[in-house]
Amino acid sequence: MSTRFDSRNAETVCAHLGDDPAQHNGAVITPIYQNSLFVMETMDELVANYVPNQENTGPVGGMMRKFDYTRTANPTTEVAEKKIAFLEHGDLARCFSSGMAAISAAIMSTLHAGDHVVTVRSVYSPAHHFLTDYLQRYGISVGFAEGGSVADFERAVRPNTRLFYLESPSSFVMEQQDLEGIAALAKSRDIATICDNSWATPLYQRPLDFGVDLVVHSATKYLGGHSDIVAGVVVGKRERMLKLVREEGLLLGAVLDPFSGWLLTRGLRTLPVRLAQHAQNAATIAHRLFEHKSVARVYYPGMPDDKQPGLTAKQLSGRSGLLSFELKNTELTAAYKLVNSLKYYGIGYSWGGFESLALARRVSGEMFGVNEPDRVLIRLHIGLEHVEDLWHDLESALERN
Ligand SMILES: *Cc1c(COP(=O)(O)O)cnc(C)c1O
Repeated sequence: MSTRFDSRNAETVCAHLGDDPAQHNGAVITPIYQNSLFVMETMDELVANYVPNQENTGPVGGMMRKFDYTRTANPTTEVAEKKIAFLEHGDLARCFSSGMAAISAAIMSTLHAGDHVVTVRSVYSPAHHFLTDYLQRYGISVGFAEGGSVADFERAVRPNTRLFYLESPSSFVMEQQDLEGIAALAKSRDIATICDNSWATPLYQRPLDFGVDLVVHSATKYLGGHSDIVAGVVVGKRERMLKLVREEGLLLGAVLDPFSGWLLTRGLRTLPVRLAQHAQNAATIAHRLFEHKSVARVYYPGMPDDKQPGLTAKQLSGRSGLLSFELKNTELTAAYKLVNSLKYYGIGYSWGGFESLALARRVSGEMFGVNEPDRVLIRLHIGLEHVEDLWHDLESALERN
């Protein structure tokens, strides 16, 4: 299969790329290599395993000739990595034991003591915490671009800025950044760029095509897609990725376990059909919420009042299932009451699985821009249930409100 594989279509890539039944007794699914160690035939083979391979074949894009130890690479997890690298238009992908393990590894791979990072306020809050609090102890400082434009990033740059950390769209207020413009500015100043692409997935947005250096994902969300694993992945060009695998990958060691790698591949096989259904259901719900008399605003790219229509058109080829909305009644208690009365939406933090979820939160005005007031948002993950069940549930909760 793999030797004859030449499709570039996402559906076929998700179904087949990286699988090689002939290597596994014809097994149509790559088995779970639940082992830490791979042994060699001879000492010579072991000693020569890391001798550079000109053809770039072998595990980790040819970094080695054979598998030797699961902290370095594992054949089960490698199937998922091959699919994700291809989908993101990167050379190599590296799985980690969580999205945060991937994010922290990617960030650390770009920084030294004394460096400065620019990010946006709406960034995923543990990533925000890692950048602003944790990395301080290594002498890293952080500034914020007050908006998503190139000019906002340019204003925030200092002589020691070495990283722009992006998340577009962000996962609570769905704010976007100008990926191509920001990546071009970064390149002109020798600044690295990382983009969290969990919301759009590589099916609907490919930051590497806009010049971003590294893409990170919480594979716990859509890539896994079944709320049964915690996983992360970093994707990029070969040189950056090999450095990241040798340093943060091997030294920090937050490797994905083979069983989770296997479940991740199982999730990826259906990513295109799942995402199409999430997108269709979410668009229906978003537009009906937008029309509803009790709703003040819907946060979902591509709505009639989209604040960033240019970026939506240029960067996103589709929309996923995560959206937020604001009630006209701005009390937190009203939002809690609405969420508590839903029957098909679980109350919880995560998203990207098959199931619908809801969450209410007071969001700091800083997330929306300078001098903006705090707002109470209800975030919904629109799952794969029947869309009319999901809408009727919401509609009756809105009526009761
Ligand atoms: C969940 C999430 C993460 C973190 O992923 P984990 O797998 O939970 O570590 C990072 N970024 C975004 C946008 C997320 O939603």
